[in-house]
Amino acid sequence: MESPVRKYLHQLFNDTTAMDGGDLADYIPELAKADPEVFSIALTTIDGRTYSVGDDEREFTIQSISKPFAYASALTDRGLEAISAKVGVEPTGEAFNELSLEKGTNRPKNPMINAGAITIHSMLAEPDSSLEDRANHTVEFFSRLAGRKLEMDESVFRSELETADRNFALAHMLRNLGVFEEHAHQVVAGYVAQCAIKVNVRDLAVMGATLANRGMHPFTGERVASRDVARQVLAVMVSAGMYDASGTWFSDVGIPAKSGVSGGILGVLPGQVGIGVFSPRLDPKGNSVRGVNVFNKLSQDMGLHLLNAGIFGSNTIRSVSEGDDETVMRLQGVIQFSGAEAILHRMASLECDPGTMVFDLTKVTRLDAMARRMFLEGLRRLTADGHRVELIDPDEVLPDPDLGGSTYPIRRETP
Ligand code: GLU
Repeated sequence: MESPVRKYLHQLFNDTTAMDGGDLADYIPELAKADPEVFSIALTTIDGRTYSVGDDEREFTIQSISKPFAYASALTDRGLEAISAKVGVEPTGEAFNELSLEKGTNRPKNPMINAGAITIHSMLAEPDSSLEDRANHTVEFFSRLAGRKLEMDESVFRSELETADRNFALAHMLRNLGVFEEHAHQVVAGYVAQCAIKVNVRDLAVMGATLANRGMHPFTGERVASRDVARQVLAVMVSAGMYDASGTWFSDVGIPAKSGVSGGILGVLPGQVGIGVFSPRLDPKGNSVRGVNVFNKLSQDMGLHLLNAGIFGSNTIRSVSEGDDETVMRLQGVIQFSGAEAILHRMASLECDPGTMVFDLTKVTRLDAMARRMFLEGLRRLTADGHRVELIDPDEVLPDPDLGGSTYPIRRETP
């Protein structure tokens, strides 16, 4: 059977190919030489399946899509507190290459604008690292995200460096204001090298899937970034990933994303997929024309808007049977805060003399950390009130159900 997902992507690709509006970025001379017709789409699930269409082996320079990944690297090396002291998380409402600094602290407003990304680059690897060390560190981290060895495009690197006056100016201002102490030219050269790392659209999808999978690589199984780092990066992508179109993008598409001047767009849908699209012609906001169309359609057709969150909690309790001296509560699905709240509410309303309370978790997929704490607290209180609490948990979705003081619920094997 041909996968309907693949078929859908082919259809989407064919429908979008006709769009030929937009212009190539030309402020980096080498980018103006790109083939404007190249087009590719890739989608990788957090289970590690990739679907792709079009010129999916064609490499292009990552440009600004490097910014969320460099941010992830710096957060991993230095921690959130040290990074937040230097770079904020607010949208700017200004162009990506403005010196948008927070009043009072002079922190660049976020890591997705050039001032923020140059500062982040200065914090990669070890303090006092050389230009080469930082550039190598970046390529190495990006390669781990992609699950293959990535390289830099020398000609794009040189082309941008020769015309990088504005980024040099930003770096000098930042250094003058004490935002970083490293050599301004060296930091810009390293940042330009970071932007010149070559990827194809499948790499973008896999790198995105690693963030979607809370920092764990979907193929290699390596933990490349922590869960907190992945979440922090996505938060900034939501507010500032799509240049001045970030608000419109999030309301229309609802997928944390980052785009770059070479025509790539990275999308990350937490817990589901990473998506890459490449087509070099850009709209007036600097985003790939076809890329924006692909994401809009994908989001609508596949229901990917992040704020289309499912209704949690209301169906966590499958059934409750109240007998004379035994009550059985059957639970189901993924249990989060609202599901645990519903269970606790129902527990509190079970008016019965101390008797046996059985909780059947056979159909529960997972309890998140907060739901686990809340549920165990409920069990602890029932025990303290004199109930005999029994658990049916064949798949151990609630491992080590310690109720405190070495008290455990009684295990019952069969429902
Ligand atoms: N290297 C580019 C610059 O700093 C990246 C810009 C972008 O992709 O937004 O100007």
